[in-house]
Amino acid sequence: MRKIVFRLGYVLKRPMVLNYYNEFMRNNSKPIEELELQQNKGLKRLIDFCFDHIPYYQRLFKSLHLTKVDFNSINHLEQLPILTKDQIKNEPESFIPVNVKTNFINGSTGGSTGVPLKYRMSQECYCRSVALLYRGWWFAGYRPGDKLAVIAGASLVSNKETFKKKAQDFVLNFRHYSSYGMDSEILDRYLLHMNQCKPSFLRGYASSLYLLAKHVEENSIKLNFHLKGIFSTAEVLSISQRKLIERVFRVKVFDNYGLNDGGVSAYECDEHNGMHIDYERSILQTVNDDGKVVEGEKGKIIATSLYNFAMPFIRYDTGDLGLIDTSPCVCGNARPLLKQIYGRTTDYLKLNNKVIGSPVLTVLMGKVDLENYQIMQKKSDEIDVKYVNESLLNNKDEDFIKKSFFEHVGQIKINFKRVKPYNLLIENKYKFIINEVCR
Ligand SMILES: [Zn+2]
Repeated sequence: MRKIVFRLGYVLKRPMVLNYYNEFMRNNSKPIEELELQQNKGLKRLIDFCFDHIPYYQRLFKSLHLTKVDFNSINHLEQLPILTKDQIKNEPESFIPVNVKTNFINGSTGGSTGVPLKYRMSQECYCRSVALLYRGWWFAGYRPGDKLAVIAGASLVSNKETFKKKAQDFVLNFRHYSSYGMDSEILDRYLLHMNQCKPSFLRGYASSLYLLAKHVEENSIKLNFHLKGIFSTAEVLSISQRKLIERVFRVKVFDNYGLNDGGVSAYECDEHNGMHIDYERSILQTVNDDGKVVEGEKGKIIATSLYNFAMPFIRYDTGDLGLIDTSPCVCGNARPLLKQIYGRTTDYLKLNNKVIGSPVLTVLMGKVDLENYQIMQKKSDEIDVKYVNESLLNNKDEDFIKKSFFEHVGQIKINFKRVKPYNLLIENKYKFIINEVCR
């Protein structure tokens, strides 16, 4: 019954989503070469469109003396420079198509300068993203119509419980919980509600899932529902967070990576060995500092959204770091795996004029067994290390952290503060580096 309502909802509202979903499910058994062929076709169409309608690319192709025939496959993409958020922000209107009408929805994303980047997403691109989401959850056993609880903030769910939202939730069999101001009382209420409605799947920001699990464990709350899977999204999920969430809910967490501005996505399979990259909406690549495509080593994640004709970005720098692993996965899915998302490249500390980025900090802090932590810089030579742990850090661990920092940046002041998990949330989201000096 739920499945019929779910499908009916899409048939009436957005039939394309179901069509794409069926098509993408069929793709699961196709060899990777066939998917690449589809990507090449998509790329050709996109390039042609940019030649005909996008002022920014018309200018760029002209300056590089490129014509339509110079692009026949993904390999030819390297002829174009990496596109940064700042470049788009400087002249957003030149990415909007001229002489053609496209249906779109508006989106925005954070940028390195703290000013959000506003972009347009075509209906086609959006419908593909939704279909990919359901296909991604399918790896965890989710089937359209299954009951799903969602804990998320503003970017995933509107704060207002409008009638439209409620109707949507009913049709899709979703239950939305806001991740705003999740204190003990609110978490109690959420759990009470979940105990009544018994969801089969749970989805949320890594930090929200962590808070919920922590609350259940600390207060020995009895759960009378059994989840089949948990979907972590929108934030980097740390190993310790994953462990706690899985222990408390006695089920596996399936991580995913996705950006609407780049149109890229990747979903973890049952092997939990990385996230299979989606081919049906975009091209996800990793590049080194010279902009050359690399595989099997850490690189910047760049995205070419193949169906966003409302505002096309080619070789768009997502600001994230990752590693693409092409070795076959035991699950049989032929798509390469995206591994180790190192967090936004824009997250860094600058101490004594020396920059230390998030990858280094992740490795350093990973050597100390902490449940969760956050490093906050308020002065040029002083940081707060806030952490969540059963007990206070011992001298040995404090000394290790100090020594590691001193070796990287020289003498600085480090204040260790043991805090409650809620204290690590900034504007409702978890960030492990906060730099108040260089923003
Ligand atoms: Zn797999």
